[in-house]
Amino acid sequence: MTDKTRHILSLSGGKDSTALAIFMRDKVPDMEYVFCDTGQELRETYQYLDQVEAYLGKKIHRLNSQASFDHWLTVFGGYLPSARMRWCTKMLKLRPFEEFVGETPVVSYIGIRADEDRTGYISHRDNITTVYPFKDAGIGYEGVIQILQDSGIGMPPYMQWGRTHSGCYFCFFQKKIEWVRLLETYPEDFDRAQAYEKEGAEPGETFTWIQDMPLRELRKPERIARIKQEHADRTERSRQTRDNKRLVEVFGGIVEDSEPAACLICQL
Ligand code: SF4
Repeated sequence: MTDKTRHILSLSGGKDSTALAIFMRDKVPDMEYVFCDTGQELRETYQYLDQVEAYLGKKIHRLNSQASFDHWLTVFGGYLPSARMRWCTKMLKLRPFEEFVGETPVVSYIGIRADEDRTGYISHRDNITTVYPFKDAGIGYEGVIQILQDSGIGMPPYMQWGRTHSGCYFCFFQKKIEWVRLLETYPEDFDRAQAYEKEGAEPGETFTWIQDMPLRELRKPERIARIKQEHADRTERSRQTRDNKRLVEVFGGIVEDSEPAACLICQL
């Protein structure tokens, strides 16, 4: 590390990166905070970041890709991004972050918790050193919730309607039950997501957010009823096997059966 080393914490609008920003606020006074805005984020994320910015007393740099999601969708031949072809993360999150970082040595602060064993999509440029303060301090899930609670910031507001992670409203990492919640909470966003889908007669002409289930199918009442029932069954099984009631059940009001696949820069 040199005197010129910059310290950068990338916020996603999620609980872990927010808690990390709060945790690090007084430890690294020259921390730079950034948020890579795809232009398609959950609407509550912007309001939450304003709140976090006020708490930190420092600007959160909003980084935008030079081109929009729609531009990149055209470039990628209309292929909607997916877990296997995640061009959205690369073009709309990682690239703006790396442009902001530039060539100087940077310490990048990542909010992976001590109770997690996930890896993910982060920048591996030579001038970027990645650190995991929650892992080093042994801070796990309950610790993160406590930090958010103590600060008065609280959990991200989209959790109130049942979305579990930050990121784009149409993110393909969300579960079917979250699509249902999106439809019921912000039907216009669901419609916008559905409008991106294309169904063609030939192989390679169909692009949907969920493999083998276009949103026109998911929104049918009988399908919604089945998704809700399956989710309720899974949640109940999960609740029965849990020894201790997690704090989030009290504080966040949400019990989820499992964590979705990670997309670190989008969803921490
Ligand atoms: S939140 Fe989801 S859709 Fe948005 S950039 Fe990240 S992986 Fe892609």
